[in-house]
Amino acid sequence: MTRLSSTLACLCLATLTCFVRANAADTRLGREVVPTFQSISLRLDADSTSYTGTTHIELKATEPTQTFRFHARGVTLDTIRFTSPKGPVKVTTTTGDKGVITATLARKITPGAYKMDIEFHDTFNTDAVGLYRMEKDGHAYAFTQFEADYARDAFPCWDEPSFKIPYQLILSVPQDEVAIANTLPEKETVKDGWKTTIFKTTRPLPSYLLAIATGDLEWVEIPGLGIPGRVVTVKGQSQLAKAAAETTAPILHALEAYFGTPYPYDKLDLIAIPEYWAGAMENAGAITYSDRVLLLDPTAQTVSQMRRLVMVSAHELSHMWFGDLVTMQWWDDLWLNESFADWMGDKITHQLHPEYDWNLTSVQDSQKIMFEDARPSTRAIRQPVESTDNLFENVGLAYNKGKAVLSMFEQWVGPETFQKGVNAYLKAHAWGNATADDLWKSLDQSSGRNVSQVMAGFIEQPGFPLVTVEPASTKGTYVLSQRRFTNLGVEQAALSWQIPLTLKFEHDGKIESRSLLLVASEQSVDLGPNVSWIYPNQDAYGYFRWNVPAEMLKSLAATSARSLTPRERIGLISSSGALLLAGAIHGDDYLRILETMGADPQPLVLTSLLDILQNVKTVIPPDASVAFAAYVRRTLGPALDRVGMSAAPGEAEALSVVRPQLLAWMGDEGRDATVQSFAETQAKHFLEDPSSVDPALAGEVLILAAHNGDQALFDAYRAHVESAKTPAVRSQYLNAMGAFRKPEIRKAALDYVLSGPLHPNEIFTVTRATGNDEPGREATYRWMTEHYEAITGRIPAEFATYLPFFASGCSEERLKNAQAFFADPKHHVSGQEVQLAEVTDQVEDCLRLREREGTAMAGYLETSSHASGAHPPAGSPR
Ligand SMILES: [Zn+2]
Repeated sequence: MTRLSSTLACLCLATLTCFVRANAADTRLGREVVPTFQSISLRLDADSTSYTGTTHIELKATEPTQTFRFHARGVTLDTIRFTSPKGPVKVTTTTGDKGVITATLARKITPGAYKMDIEFHDTFNTDAVGLYRMEKDGHAYAFTQFEADYARDAFPCWDEPSFKIPYQLILSVPQDEVAIANTLPEKETVKDGWKTTIFKTTRPLPSYLLAIATGDLEWVEIPGLGIPGRVVTVKGQSQLAKAAAETTAPILHALEAYFGTPYPYDKLDLIAIPEYWAGAMENAGAITYSDRVLLLDPTAQTVSQMRRLVMVSAHELSHMWFGDLVTMQWWDDLWLNESFADWMGDKITHQLHPEYDWNLTSVQDSQKIMFEDARPSTRAIRQPVESTDNLFENVGLAYNKGKAVLSMFEQWVGPETFQKGVNAYLKAHAWGNATADDLWKSLDQSSGRNVSQVMAGFIEQPGFPLVTVEPASTKGTYVLSQRRFTNLGVEQAALSWQIPLTLKFEHDGKIESRSLLLVASEQSVDLGPNVSWIYPNQDAYGYFRWNVPAEMLKSLAATSARSLTPRERIGLISSSGALLLAGAIHGDDYLRILETMGADPQPLVLTSLLDILQNVKTVIPPDASVAFAAYVRRTLGPALDRVGMSAAPGEAEALSVVRPQLLAWMGDEGRDATVQSFAETQAKHFLEDPSSVDPALAGEVLILAAHNGDQALFDAYRAHVESAKTPAVRSQYLNAMGAFRKPEIRKAALDYVLSGPLHPNEIFTVTRATGNDEPGREATYRWMTEHYEAITGRIPAEFATYLPFFASGCSEERLKNAQAFFADPKHHVSGQEVQLAEVTDQVEDCLRLREREGTAMAGYLETSSHASGAHPPAGSPR
């Protein structure tokens, strides 16, 4: 599954379960009776609120037993027939937690083959999980999202990933509608107004990878696959499928080349769904996507949208091997399933489109996640998972840290050796299940190194090391030491790691490198005399923070564009941000380093700088905001001058990615009147004639114009949300509706979240924008507490666990209020405490940093803004 990034990242996840925590022993299925084949017939008319079905399951009893268990949650089982080779056996059932059905037979059965047939009925889900119905432009559709445990909500099944069996789906739909499943149709018949499609039996699959789509669907063919392939959309949207159709085959072929085996399934449908929580989901042969990701308007698609499409498709398609062909044994390896797909998605995206500089985007992700992983609320990414409760609560950390760690190990053992290990693992477990340990063992073998042991430090321990490099008393020798990285003022258990690292350094004017495995708490390395600087993490592949003597750090920053690669410069920006939190450098020095980095020629290094400035912005005391605006203009103004406010013909693609971000910073935090008025003019043009504005700028200029916008502009945005012809335009306007700063309009935007015609998954689109400044964060938090019941009534139960994120920021009072609010049993949902702990850490980090460095930072901002005359004040022509 791919998640979509956002400021409230966790609110964009798909399947997060948080039912009342039940005893694991009661909710895991036994192995006394296991399925070997299941056919499922469903009669689906999405215009109705309910559906009926039957299922036939071939079973194997592995030991003498009178009882066995399977799943069905909220599904009414009308009749159950259990058949032994000698004839029917009477069966009764009881229902337990999490949809576990215990079947008790009239007599004990012996090992052997049996059959079970069930007739059932159910209502469609309407929250975009399980088997759900939704409407778009007057047409009704049924779709599915089963990961992690929603298949049991749709029909009776053995709903755990290790029950991997062939399925046959048989779907009856109104005769003028289309039905899609994981495989090609085998036979189609029409009778009494119903069309019944019998689909080919699948290869062995776990229940969470089954998929169904029905309704007035249309599609375009995907060329060049070697198997049948389509991009499927709801009615009237197939003209937006061109980019997806054209980008798929190259990705699939690159993956076939990497894995050394053909795509494992008989067809490939990519299905765009308007009501969808995640980015996409890797159902075998029938990948479902959020329509915002898959469908691009050929007349207005942007570089960022194209990049996201390619990356998400590469992630999902890599799951066809890693996840679908070989499936995790149990959910404790979900992190590996997702980290691997993210890692591979990045790799293939970079390989196919070197012009995207995607290796810089991936290093940004790993550098960013270390800020979370440094806090006390962090946890090891591999955790024992007893039940599917809160399975995805650690997912942001698990995806990005896992991806970073895989990258580090690939570099350590070498890409070819790593590939060999991965492919041996896939070959050994094809069509079955495996664990992370199986992969490490395979990598041990391919590399001849103890990958398992070194990996354990990063996977089974929380946090990461800080590697410090200091000169030893002998000239030319340096001491490398490691300890657990912690933010200043935070107590955490001491840990140690075996760290694969490569030092990069300048020696006698030449750049050299040295690789080693840092296993001790201290280790000396002789680099020779005349070393002018050391960068302890060559190409930023290592998952650790580093520190070097203060003068060396300053000179690294000053000469970075010449001596460091863009990945290393991103690492430098991020690692120094971490050193600020650790108390190893001061706020004024840090602001000086960032100011230097504003001159960086690589656009994606600038986006890293903007990310870090986002953290800085929260810490700056409110009374220093004018001086901070001057600092922003001084640091970013020259960058915007280089990039330009408008696209130049033939410019590098990356400029169109960073341009809107620079405009946003200069217009909002920098209070640059020229940028503000440029944005207002562009927004006006976009409202009148969308084709007159660079599509890459549309989203940001709508937001900037909203900051000072009035009720009339708000009403115009709302009208565009409701009449938008493409998912992207709808998202742009919806997001911008949250960016109005006048309190009464902000309130209207928040009211619209609950009163407007929004899909459940759009509820958080507006609040992401309203929470973008401190008054907005406060208003959004208050709104959440006042409308808690209405909000939780509109979203799948598990999303309530993420509501504590509304207390993020730098307000102690809001944090305390949130702690009391969520402690109230009326507002408490199992799993919420994990998110509340994360928010508490974030706010406390910010408060401590503001207390410790706020004055120094404000002082620097004041004196530097007076001392420097080089930046234009707000309002002067650029
Ligand atoms: Zn995934």
